[in-house]
Amino acid sequence: MPTYSDYGIVLNSSAYSEADKIFGIYTRENALVRAIGKGARRTTGRFGGKLDQLSCSQFHFAKGKNLDVISECEQINSFPLLKKDLHRLTNGILFLEIVSNFAHEQESESTLVYDLLYDGLNGLQHIENIDLFVIEFVLNFLSIHGFRPQFENCVSCSQEINKNEYEEMKGYLYSSVLGGLLCHKCSQFIYCKQIGVEVLDILCNKKSSGDNSVLKYRGYLRQTQELLMEHLNVRGKNKIKTFEIVASL
Ligand SMILES: [Zn+2]
Repeated sequence: MPTYSDYGIVLNSSAYSEADKIFGIYTRENALVRAIGKGARRTTGRFGGKLDQLSCSQFHFAKGKNLDVISECEQINSFPLLKKDLHRLTNGILFLEIVSNFAHEQESESTLVYDLLYDGLNGLQHIENIDLFVIEFVLNFLSIHGFRPQFENCVSCSQEINKNEYEEMKGYLYSSVLGGLLCHKCSQFIYCKQIGVEVLDILCNKKSSGDNSVLKYRGYLRQTQELLMEHLNVRGKNKIKTFEIVASL
């Protein structure tokens, strides 16, 4: 049986048989791998906690007809600080769900997605402003996939957005379906919603998670996250469910 090795992060798992589980693993070179972990449903199984959701390992896979089989794995990072803080842990699971919702086998951008996910989970263990960090993660993820929202020109007619005009009105017109700002003319016949100047500042990365002057923006972080989740929901395989839990904490 041919074999291969790769670094991977466990996104999710489901029961396969009485003793075995199927794992969804995002790997650095092979993107999404769905593989069987034999004996993984037994608490005394040889994998221990190494196949828990969020765990990062070097995996050794045996190629199967339909599904590959995990033959060995050596854990690299279990992100232990995430598990000590419910808010951080839930956001970590949100990262996994976002990656899972766009993941396919053999994506050309797998290295970028894997590195972003690894750095995201690692950073989430210590970062002070979690909400802003989540926004940066989602924007970087969307950039990798070519889905970053468009803010410079009208997403419908490409006319440049006159920011002075909008700043006087204290808001912009945004279409989630088209993924960006609309000019006044296009907003008359395309469904859109008004977003505050502060939300656009956050989305345009005028604030970074290392910036101490984030107080002004604190009230707008949730609104910005909601807008990004809608953006992901329109483009991904499924609706992001974990965000509701994040928002309720
Ligand atoms: Zn337009």
